[in-house]
Amino acid sequence: MEMILGGKLIDKAEKIEVKNPYDGSLIDYVPRGTTEDITRAITIAEKGAEINRNLPVHERVKILRTVAEIMEDKFEDLTKTIYLESSKTIREARKETARAINTISLSAEEASRIKGETIPFDSMPGSEKRSGFYYRFPVGIIAAITPFNDPLNLVAHKLGPAIASGNAIVLKPATETPLSALLLSKIFLEAGLPGEILSIITGYGSEIGEALVTDERVGMVSFTGGVETGREISKIAGLKKLGMELGSNSPVIVMKDADLEKAVSSCVSGAFWAAGQNCIGVQRILIQEEIYEEFKEKFVDKTKSYKIGCKADDLTDMGPMINEKEASRVIEWIEEAERLGARILTGGRREGALVEPTVLEAVPSSAKIDKKEIFGPVVSFYKFKKLDDAIAKANDVDYGLHAAIFTNDLNAAFYAVRNLNVGGVMVNDSTDYRIDSMPFGGVKQSGLGREGVRFAVEEMTEIKVVCFNLD
Ligand code: NAP
Repeated sequence: MEMILGGKLIDKAEKIEVKNPYDGSLIDYVPRGTTEDITRAITIAEKGAEINRNLPVHERVKILRTVAEIMEDKFEDLTKTIYLESSKTIREARKETARAINTISLSAEEASRIKGETIPFDSMPGSEKRSGFYYRFPVGIIAAITPFNDPLNLVAHKLGPAIASGNAIVLKPATETPLSALLLSKIFLEAGLPGEILSIITGYGSEIGEALVTDERVGMVSFTGGVETGREISKIAGLKKLGMELGSNSPVIVMKDADLEKAVSSCVSGAFWAAGQNCIGVQRILIQEEIYEEFKEKFVDKTKSYKIGCKADDLTDMGPMINEKEASRVIEWIEEAERLGARILTGGRREGALVEPTVLEAVPSSAKIDKKEIFGPVVSFYKFKKLDDAIAKANDVDYGLHAAIFTNDLNAAFYAVRNLNVGGVMVNDSTDYRIDSMPFGGVKQSGLGREGVRFAVEEMTEIKVVCFNLD
């Protein structure tokens, strides 16, 4: 597939292969973009930013609504592209397509809700004759970079709000999964988006990322990906807005009064969705000692019943990891934990990029898996006596995206909400619960700022104050 430079499809002699992680088969090629392509895209985006800033809101709304309608028509194409290029099973891919359509529809709605407020200037003695307001205006050019794990919806979360709020956007998708981003962008062009507003430059982040994030014409870098890359970008981006949606190792607390069936099924799905490659996937489960054994038995039984393998099969619960390299890293981390004293309750093996859903207990704090983000299908159990101990363990990491608590005790739930140091607490749901309109983002190393369409629109706009001196 060609990349998109200022709305035009561009091919290049140098290409990158896109492969199916399940069997390594070649799906397609994309151009290996260069720093010159990035610079050209930003130059065109300067014009694009001017065009979109001046587009009446009803036209932006119309384009975004049309995008959502075309996405509905192309539901199967989008779904197929996701499950071919990524780790996702067909069921997971369908859900992602549906969510991406919702993200674009929300963007259409939010385009007409970008508002300001009047300012009571006369609250300051001496300002009695002044009157005014503030409103929001687009930052100009958004440089967006996305990861491989939700190749369509995370791209929709950049394009939708950026375009709704009157910006131009230059996006670099993950090299492993560029096709969903390109397909979606072609739909934007088909829907009538002026080409200058949109560029999708494919290529290696290590080669073209710096040119994109350091260009002084860019008003905001909107990054979703790993903490190491996020840190690198923050160091070099210079004085511009930064949106950072990074990783985590989300904790779930299960209290002895919880509905165990609900907690088990929600946590199994939350741990192994997309083969654990989910920034809000369940990684650490803290279980009150009275129900530890019962929870463990039920969880392990359910995990053992998981069908793993062919992504195209409707009955498959979990597909492969994104590549063999990542799969062997996950196995190394499991083996390290085992060497240091952890016990494997189920799983722990791999075949190619397929890693069995794995459950560990007795993980020592010296093991990588205890504190870092595994980003694979591995979950660790911890036993606790008092809620305070569970909260301390949950908070004892560098991350803080989502946490969850299963309990029927309102006081315990509120206590956890107040004391868990994260961007979101789910009560009686696993950490991977999310809808695309809610504010989404983390604290500590999990990121800066919030996405969720309305909140991304806020991040992608600036406030301008207007004051009339009515003497
Ligand atoms: P990654 O390795 O950080 O890559 C993310 C993106 O950054 C890719 O497009 C990558 O390009 C690009 N990149 C790599 N090096 C770069 C550089 N030096 N400058 C600029 N861009 C560069 O992350 P990943 O492995 O794709 O994704 C997994 C991570 O994303 C996990 O930590 C996960 O938790 C996080 N994530 C967070 C959220 C959230 O909303 N908080 C959502 C999903 C995922 P290449 O593909 O060419 O390397």
